[in-house]
Amino acid sequence: MSAAVLVVGSANADLVVPVDRRPGGGETVLGGDTALSPGGKGANTAVAAGKLGADVALLGAVGDDPYGRMLRDSLSNAGVDAQFVRTVERPTGIAYITVTPDGENSILVSPGANSALEPGDITDEALDGVRVLVASLEVPLPTVERAVVRAREHGVRVLLNLSPAAEVSAETLAALDVLLVNEHEAAYLLGADDVDPRKLLELGPRAAVVTLGAKGAAVIEGDKSTTVESPKVAAVDTTGAGDAFAGALAAALADGADLVEAAKRAVKVAAVTVTRHGAQPSYPTAAELE
Ligand code: ADP
Repeated sequence: MSAAVLVVGSANADLVVPVDRRPGGGETVLGGDTALSPGGKGANTAVAAGKLGADVALLGAVGDDPYGRMLRDSLSNAGVDAQFVRTVERPTGIAYITVTPDGENSILVSPGANSALEPGDITDEALDGVRVLVASLEVPLPTVERAVVRAREHGVRVLLNLSPAAEVSAETLAALDVLLVNEHEAAYLLGADDVDPRKLLELGPRAAVVTLGAKGAAVIEGDKSTTVESPKVAAVDTTGAGDAFAGALAAALADGADLVEAAKRAVKVAAVTVTRHGAQPSYPTAAELE
């Protein structure tokens, strides 16, 4: 028996180093102090939902090392069920993040243990009782595609956060209740810079949500398209904002909200996260939102 929300995705240790500029090939550059925090799109999404009080589980993989234990602690502190997080004989995934003074991130992910997540991990037991499945793409694509298709067969509502952008099968897109993308991912999918979000439905999902940074999000269902505005905030760090949006959206859907109402709750949560540093540490609890 799993939770109401099942997240299928990555867990990474984020190693963040401030730099004046990034090194080129063969070059050494000295940066500032490293900040270590729990991250990875899957773990972030699960922690965001957990902190909001959702009944949520993560299906993922970590290594038998200090980073894996840090990630398990973070899940547990957020109330996330980790019974489907396997410990494997690979190092825990690490994201090496450099941040320049203009706030721009550049990220190198070493997936490690996340690469060991197999289609066979998507078991009936993990899907049993789940109302909403959320998958994202820092884990092997065949595993994500299996999760989407199996969840649909189980009558689970399926949300795919197509991040980082990758080519997924037409069958997978057609099995989605909600396709969640940011503007870059939407442009990738549509093969155009000038994105008309309504065109996303032609790819097969029953609904689409496009996050628009400080502008909020667009929700497209059938021939209805709604813009959900974000509260205006002073952003200091947008790391993990999209993952927080995904977690909050899934939590609201599992709670019975319709998609527009869920997006309204998600922009409020994501707006709080950008006013604080880091990914998981920036996520608000339900009490903090009020
Ligand atoms: P990603 O983080 O995946 O690149 P976005 O930049 O679209 O995606 O951000 C995801 C969500 O985070 C947005 O829909 C919005 O709700 C919130 N957000 C991002 N940047 C800001 C900002 N500057 N001010 C307020 N909310 C923001």
